[in-house]
Amino acid sequence: MQKPFVPEVAVIGGGLAGCEAAWQLAERGHKVDLIEMKPVRMSPAHTTPLLGELVCSNSLRSDDPQTPAGLLKAELRAARSLIIACADAARVPAGDALAVDRLQFSRQITALVVGHPNIRLRRQLCDDLPALPCILAGGPLLEGGAARTLRRLCGDRLYFYDAIAPIVEADSIDYDRCFRGSRYHQGEEGDYLNCPLNRDEYYAFVEALLAGRKVTPHRFEEPRYFEGCLPVEVMAERGPETLSFGPMKPVGLVDPRRPGELPYAVVQLRAENRYHTAYNLVGFQTRLAYPEQKRIFAMIPALHQAEFVRFGSIHRNSYVEGHKVLDDSLALRAAPHIHLAGQITGVEGYIESTAMGLLAAVLLHDKLAGLPLSLPPATTAIGGLYHHVTAPRLHGEKYVPMNINFGLLPPFEGKPAKRAGKRGRRALHAERAREHLPSWLHKIGVEVAAPADLLGDAEQDGGGVVDAAEA
Ligand SMILES: Cc1cc2nc3c(=O)[nH]c(=O)nc-3n(C[C@H](O)[C@H](O)[C@H](O)COP(=O)(O)OP(=O)(O)OC[C@H]3O[C@@H](n4cnc5c(N)ncnc54)[C@H](O)[C@@H]3O)c2cc1C
Repeated sequence: MQKPFVPEVAVIGGGLAGCEAAWQLAERGHKVDLIEMKPVRMSPAHTTPLLGELVCSNSLRSDDPQTPAGLLKAELRAARSLIIACADAARVPAGDALAVDRLQFSRQITALVVGHPNIRLRRQLCDDLPALPCILAGGPLLEGGAARTLRRLCGDRLYFYDAIAPIVEADSIDYDRCFRGSRYHQGEEGDYLNCPLNRDEYYAFVEALLAGRKVTPHRFEEPRYFEGCLPVEVMAERGPETLSFGPMKPVGLVDPRRPGELPYAVVQLRAENRYHTAYNLVGFQTRLAYPEQKRIFAMIPALHQAEFVRFGSIHRNSYVEGHKVLDDSLALRAAPHIHLAGQITGVEGYIESTAMGLLAAVLLHDKLAGLPLSLPPATTAIGGLYHHVTAPRLHGEKYVPMNINFGLLPPFEGKPAKRAGKRGRRALHAERAREHLPSWLHKIGVEVAAPADLLGDAEQDGGGVVDAAEA
């Protein structure tokens, strides 16, 4: 007689993070109930009953390990990620990027998850979070009572919308065209970098904002803006001077190099991370299309060569303020048996969500096994994401969902790193992460990857899943 399936752990949400988490727990010997609402209930963005569905692009971004996305994938591959193995197996030609045949990709995930003897898939809407230790991976469009429970546990630290201003690399700012200081405290080492515009520059900028191409919101993302965080282009529509009385207000900001002159308008930049390697444009949340942001924000003189760590956006997105509500194991402080994974932790993107699924499972396994938590080194891409989610914020630093970027990793100090230039520093990041990853892999029970494996070609690990039966 078949033994009854007695789950030890529940995972809610069979997306990228949930499947990764369920798989990692199952591979470590835990019996997992995976609860997915599709097709009983479909989010506005999902269209198939398959697990691990990609809701938009079929690209998992660059596979070059000297880029942030490539490094993260290399680390996930080395940590034996299910999602990356399935992506490798479903790969379609896309230059340096890892793009996939989305149906093949999701079918393989579904087949492998359903076929795992330690996983039971239950297709139902999860309204009440289980009393079992669980991982909530309901994604950016979390539905039903689970969202209400999370709201009760996190209060106003749970958000349902993103309103994100663009973030630029510190190295790409023209420091000759901006000055440091806080409002009314010119000349001091202030918290802001102030980018002045004269009258002509300001008017040209406002005109470009008005004419710039905007992203059309999805049907389920009809604009419901809060007055306090209107998109800059919506403010510009209210009148040509609205911005100069709003986020571009110059009062109290005098350039110490021009003490008698008040700029016509000022864009303020604030440090985005504790390393001061990236700055956000304060109050510049926007729905401008990405290429338009690049073009139009380059009209701010200090940003004429700006490199964007991430573009501004406004969309529906459920996420918590991780460092306020989660403990080191990614569990809710208010309910320590509930762990969060995926986009809902405050990361953004397919591979970032996958990484936070893998990590949540590894940390829950440690807890169940009575082991010390295997926290990833801050110098790795996985560690950078983990620290983004859990580390306390600098004074005034806003918590915004993040794609992986090298600004999340500790910078390199000293002249050699400065002289190395941007490309050289990317190589340094990849090299350091490659050195530091194996000790963590060892802790999480994965055979230490040889460097060639970590940085090697994508086909290496995917072979085992190519023949998986279709769902
Ligand atoms: C419209 C849209 C477009 C996007 N485009 C991109 C893109 O092009 N590139 C990119 O990198 N990222 C994109 N993202 C972000 C991307 O969705 C996420 O990064 C990623 O899919 C999140 O993974 P996840 O596992 O956290 O959530 P998901 O993959 O969304 O999985 C969550 C799962 O939980 C299920 N679920 C939700 N609530 C419940 C419940 N109460 N009970 C049971 N099951 C539940 C859902 O059905 C879903 O299967 C987009 C997001 C959206 C909303």
